[in-house]
Amino acid sequence: MSSLLTERQIGESCVICDQMKWKGIHLYTSFICTDCEQDLIQTETDHPKYKHYLKQLRKVTTPEIFS
Ligand SMILES: [Zn+2]
Repeated sequence: MSSLLTERQIGESCVICDQMKWKGIHLYTSFICTDCEQDLIQTETDHPKYKHYLKQLRKVTTPEIFS
């Protein structure tokens, strides 16, 4: 019961926009907010913004666990 207080204080840091957000999905150990998730889905693959997303997501899909 009391854990609700601590978990809802700041939210989680989104790997794409680097902002603290409340809602989103977890990908491996990282967090992607719903805003970025929707944006990513709607962005054309040849759009410059899509490359930025991929770059950010690469940090997620290749975590630095093995280094
Ligand atoms: Zn985000």
